[in-house]
Amino acid sequence: MGGVMRPSKYDWARLDPQVDALLAKGMRVTQVAQALEMRVQTIRDRLSYRRRAPRAGMKRVAPALIDRSCLNCRAAFRVASPFLRLCPVCRADCG
Ligand SMILES: [Zn+2]
Repeated sequence: MGGVMRPSKYDWARLDPQVDALLAKGMRVTQVAQALEMRVQTIRDRLSYRRRAPRAGMKRVAPALIDRSCLNCRAAFRVASPFLRLCPVCRADCG
């Protein structure tokens, strides 16, 4: 007995999917907190933390760049669309 109850470290790897599932059901954060026997503020903090720092897997994927050589000046350049055949300089010249 005794000792100050420290805020325990939550196992968010386990809790995140549970929180998401409950929110997906249309539950409010307060209800989610009750269901998981956690403090509302803890859940709120976690949700805002996740908004600020999305996991690597949730990042937008950059389009793969294609190596090309310009049809006009033959300069090598990289482009996101296979339909672009001119380097940025020549495209700018075309207007
Ligand atoms: Zn060019």
